[in-house]
Amino acid sequence: MIYLDNAATTKLSERAEQAMEPYLKNLYGNPSSIYELGEQSKKAVSESRQIIARALFCAPENIFFTSGGTESDNWVLENAMEQGKHIITSQIEHHAVLNKCRKLQGQGANVTYIGTDREGTVNLAQLENNIVSENTLISVMTANNEVGTIEPVSEIGRIAHRHRALFHTDAVQAFGHIPINVNRMNIDFLSASAHKFHGPKGVGFLYVRNPENFGPMIYGGEQERGYRSGTENVAGIVGMGAAAQEAIEQMENRMRREQKLRNYLAERLVREIPDTRINGSTRHRLPGNLNVSFAGVEGAALVVLMDEEGICISAGSACSSSDTSPSHVLKALGQSDEETYEAVRLTLNFENTREEVDYTVQKLKEMVAQMRKEK
Ligand code: PLP
Repeated sequence: MIYLDNAATTKLSERAEQAMEPYLKNLYGNPSSIYELGEQSKKAVSESRQIIARALFCAPENIFFTSGGTESDNWVLENAMEQGKHIITSQIEHHAVLNKCRKLQGQGANVTYIGTDREGTVNLAQLENNIVSENTLISVMTANNEVGTIEPVSEIGRIAHRHRALFHTDAVQAFGHIPINVNRMNIDFLSASAHKFHGPKGVGFLYVRNPENFGPMIYGGEQERGYRSGTENVAGIVGMGAAAQEAIEQMENRMRREQKLRNYLAERLVREIPDTRINGSTRHRLPGNLNVSFAGVEGAALVVLMDEEGICISAGSACSSSDTSPSHVLKALGQSDEETYEAVRLTLNFENTREEVDYTVQKLKEMVAQMRKEK
């Protein structure tokens, strides 16, 4: 099998798996218990919090563990609603943001959706013009999950703070893959998810710059200092910490490898398959992401054929691949409904090889030619 769908999820790293193992077996204490077995779990959770905090250049007190990206996004938006904030977001956010915003609008929230250019970069002038009060939360993703476009996060944060507004970024696709510094980038809230950087599924975190102005969404036994109740997912949190540590240590090396291989893949596809279009930005892009369209070829059908050859790729975003509506991201980039159906996403990781890419190109060439002939 050749796995080229790392934006959907990633393989658990060996280091994360080894770190988790004791907490799935012998070290099963509840971190809230005061005897030694509980203390060991508590210490492990605390160490992971320190690793994540170091990765973002913040204090451990600013990190709250959650069940993943979706919960972290929902939490920030729910809080904004409770504080009567105007929410400004983009048209290309993940559904964890967009569907929560729609729900909040149904409850009376004021939400504004900002457009992007054809590369998927959020329109900063439109964003700034829509800030009408200090009581505003801006929520724009660090990098897009479909086309990989990296947003001008520092600049968005600067705009937010110039107007005394707050800035949340969904960094689910970015954390562990590209450098992030919450201070330099003017970020007030940041969502991330372990399974996107070779950690386990069902665990993530939310960074909160000022917890004193923030409240819980889940109530119960007062874990996470009362901000997020529920017995901690100790093994998950430990695995996430190990994966984060590894991702930070290896980041430069991984970025270089992924970028080089992704560029090679893109160049070959554009050169060897007629009418190939690259979607998204070619300059500001996640290192492993390639989103391409082959004119006249349906992306979803291509995904099925590639699967038969043992190659995992995706049409649009995996989270909504059962959904047959056109990609809201590609629509926001100005594509017609018909064009959006042509897109396929290939997302590499540092372990992918040139041989795998060569085989993928070969199969894509064959499939695209065959599908075009049969039309
Ligand atoms: N935000 C983005 C940008 C994502 O890509 C995803 C997952 O695909 C999520 C949020 C949801 O994260 P999780 O699967 O951890 O709930």
